[in-house]
Amino acid sequence: MSAEALLSRPAADVAADIVAGRVPRDAALDASLAAMDAANAGPDGLNAVLWTDTPGARADAAALSLDTGDLPLAGIPVAVKDNIATRTMPTTCGSKILEGYVSPFEATVIAKLRAAGAVLPMKTNMDEFAMGSSTENSAWGITRHPLDHTRVPGGSSGGSAAVVAAGVTRIALGSETGGSVRQPAAFCGIVGVKPTYGRVSRHGLVAFASSLDQVGVFGQSVDDAALGLQVIAGADPLDSTSVSVPVPDYRASRESGGDKPLDGVVVGLPEEYWPDSLDARMRELLDRAVQRLIALGADVRKVSLPHTSLAIPVYYIVAPAEASSNLARFDGVRYGLRVEGDGLRGMYEATRSQGFGPEVTRRILLGTYVLSAGYYDAYYKRAMAVRRLIGDDFTKVFASGVHVLFTPTTPTTAFVAGSKKDPYEMYMSDIFTATANLAGVPAMSQPIGRIDGLPVGGQLLASHFDEATMFRVAYALERALGGEAHS
Ligand code: GLN
Repeated sequence: MSAEALLSRPAADVAADIVAGRVPRDAALDASLAAMDAANAGPDGLNAVLWTDTPGARADAAALSLDTGDLPLAGIPVAVKDNIATRTMPTTCGSKILEGYVSPFEATVIAKLRAAGAVLPMKTNMDEFAMGSSTENSAWGITRHPLDHTRVPGGSSGGSAAVVAAGVTRIALGSETGGSVRQPAAFCGIVGVKPTYGRVSRHGLVAFASSLDQVGVFGQSVDDAALGLQVIAGADPLDSTSVSVPVPDYRASRESGGDKPLDGVVVGLPEEYWPDSLDARMRELLDRAVQRLIALGADVRKVSLPHTSLAIPVYYIVAPAEASSNLARFDGVRYGLRVEGDGLRGMYEATRSQGFGPEVTRRILLGTYVLSAGYYDAYYKRAMAVRRLIGDDFTKVFASGVHVLFTPTTPTTAFVAGSKKDPYEMYMSDIFTATANLAGVPAMSQPIGRIDGLPVGGQLLASHFDEATMFRVAYALERALGGEAHS
């Protein structure tokens, strides 16, 4: 089978073929490595991949015990964001302060991938410490959009989104604090899932804002993403914020047939996510998707989440506050700082050239300010109160009988690199995604069409721990849209 053919098939099928001996155990890895070299290398490359471990990945493929054990990802290469700890490659969070850092332990999600038979050949580029929406904030240079190199792939998990969109891997891990998997998935025309807060272990995910962070999954299709989440989900004794709720079969509805597979499913369209200012062509694509949902048997209703407009102000108080506390550990003594000059002067130069970049510095300053004695009540305390109201909006709407919400993922398609100079403009990229992190509910983005060749994402949100219903709707919509999702 040719390399392209391997990469164009669902990961689950390729893994099954590898287990059955119909495809060589290293074939998917070889195809992926060739595609990576073609996509990443050179001055015109995507710059999506930061670190590789070809020998380790090959050794892992060779060592797979195919006749024992259940290996749903046998021989499947998975790309991993650079803020998830691996022992076989550096973990730098896209930051100079962690240059050369190799973790002495591995994240639980990495252990779970390996146990499922996955091979891990590459770590991907990201906005420094996952702060950003474009992958322009990396100390290792910007990542380019696979379909248009003048544009950004979104962020902060832009490297993982770009490798999946470029066909280098079928599945990749990213992280989500306010939209960093869904937003780049929408920009790149792939599927991106943020699980319920507590669904997936955060042990070994470098902390940004601990009450919001979750590991997320990219897939070329709904099934690739569902399979990836299936493998990494579940409680972990090493992460006390992970929750012991049974993990259902996310792929159960992949073949649910009949012409009304969404009979009995109530889909809410929250008016706050469909503002009059929404781009007209984006609205057309969203309307087409809604028509498909209706045709599939879903009961579609207008609903309201009245505190939605407060999500960005609340997010940009809560996330920096938690970040300023989490990042205090990178003090330049234990991490990163290599002083070459003399005394204070050398120390100053080292901080400037090897410390945090401007966005991370801005967040630390902002976070320290909102937590300071004089401003704590006015900012942080109020933000926490409003965060509760945003959560209550979701609780109420799901209690009213709505199963999933359908919205745009982002207000625009992928923008041109360098075009968002004002940080506030960049922050608005998360206007439709940050709410799910604040409320802790699961959400995902899937491609629903294109505008001028650039992908548009539709977002599904569900109630806590109900990823299964979200996938059920996503599978049906993906099938109903067919080629329209990418045209
Ligand atoms: N873009 C948002 C931020 O800059 C979200 C980032 C994320 O989800 N990691 O904070």
